[in-house]
Amino acid sequence: MNYKKAGELSSWLFVLAAVIIGGTFFIKGWTQSILFFVAIGVIIAAIVVRIVFWRCPHCKKRLKLGFRQEPTKCPNCGGDLLKTKNEEMEE
Ligand SMILES: [Zn+2]
Repeated sequence: MNYKKAGELSSWLFVLAAVIIGGTFFIKGWTQSILFFVAIGVIIAAIVVRIVFWRCPHCKKRLKLGFRQEPTKCPNCGGDLLKTKNEEMEE
């Protein structure tokens, strides 16, 4: 998983969490509480994905949060951010 896919995945998880929280407005009782905790879990998963994969696959340097210019080269080592080491070996 490259940083771009991780960014997309975490964005989708945030959307999913928002949808679940939206759903809690229409549901009452214990189901509402469960959905709320599920939403919190999804948000935590989104943050973990960001933290774990939002980095250069070569030098492992963390990319800046709010890194949105989408460069393909690492500002630190110049490696290709969209390819992991394994993907490079396959070529
Ligand atoms: Zn790097």
